[in-house]
Amino acid sequence: MKAQEAGSGGLAQGPSSGAWNEPGDDVMLIDTAMQDDARYQALLARDASQDGRWFYSVRTTGVYCRPSCASRPPRRENVAFHASTAEAEAAGFRPCKRCRPTEISAEAHRVAAIRRACDLIAAAEEVPKLEALADAAHMSPYHFHRTFRRVVGTTPAAFARAARLERLTRGLEGAASVTEAIYAAGYGSGARAYADAKAKLGAAPAALMAGGQGLALRYAAARTKLGWLLVAATDRGVASVSFGDALPALLAGIEGRFPKARITRDEGVLGSWLGAIVAAVEAGSAFPDLPLDIAGTAFQAEVWAALRRIPAGQTRSYAEVAAATGKPTAVRAVAGACAANEIALLIPCHRVVRADGASGGYRWGEERKRKLLAAERAAAS
Ligand SMILES: [Zn+2]
Repeated sequence: MKAQEAGSGGLAQGPSSGAWNEPGDDVMLIDTAMQDDARYQALLARDASQDGRWFYSVRTTGVYCRPSCASRPPRRENVAFHASTAEAEAAGFRPCKRCRPTEISAEAHRVAAIRRACDLIAAAEEVPKLEALADAAHMSPYHFHRTFRRVVGTTPAAFARAARLERLTRGLEGAASVTEAIYAAGYGSGARAYADAKAKLGAAPAALMAGGQGLALRYAAARTKLGWLLVAATDRGVASVSFGDALPALLAGIEGRFPKARITRDEGVLGSWLGAIVAAVEAGSAFPDLPLDIAGTAFQAEVWAALRRIPAGQTRSYAEVAAATGKPTAVRAVAGACAANEIALLIPCHRVVRADGASGGYRWGEERKRKLLAAERAAAS
């Protein structure tokens, strides 16, 4: 099946382009605009992106929940909606023990504060000082920095650089760009995605093996200084990250790899993941720790895990990686596992070079490898 919109002149013009908030807009305006029927649909879908934005109570049980609660969906006529936990409790409901809506509320609060900080950064000509941003978010600079990293997947400074870059390129490309992708994401779900993100290295699901039969594959893409970057994911995690000079060729690549998958564009969570990866590329900083969904042999999985332990700004020789997997003579097999890597950047095979310092090749182009390493070295020094 063809990827949607592949030929429409670029991903970049998504339905959400232009729909996101101008800096200063109150986030809650959007939330309250969501009609109750839509909210009911969201709770049936257990839509985590709505968590913290509103709550629902169930007349028959006397409890209130967040939208993504895993308990059995209540009947429409028993459900009421509340803007806050306080409102639900004032109406006589108690918090659900399963989804703990009061805890989510605190997290949603932090996420909203980070979103406002992103607005401040995006709107400012000069990059605001960390202390000022933290102050506006009612957090200590340390707590603010940590929370920002967790929610957005990159540091405030890297986000500011990306925002500046976006301002430079916006209009030229008409493109979904770093901050736009992050904005479009709905921070509620993005935050949890990051908090829950654990590297998953293991066997592929059966669906992947069968060319993606019955598999839903989502993708997001953006132009970077190193060319187009495309991220594709299953509901288990990132299945592919690739660079290319042209988007249609990248899409053809994932269609070729997953010929039976249903491939759709996703500017939501995947857009935020893409934004975090692009920001790290631009900054030469560490890549976000995202869940991966990859297929490989046990040895390949070991090599890929070893690659993920190489810090940004450093390189290893193929022999060093072989030694790190406990098989010092398996140098050629390590090179093979690097060449078989489908997930650029997040499995940083670009950080493996030949012992004599020569690049040693890169699936997505030697020049990209050199530039990636140069940016990471510069950022680390
Ligand atoms: Zn619940």
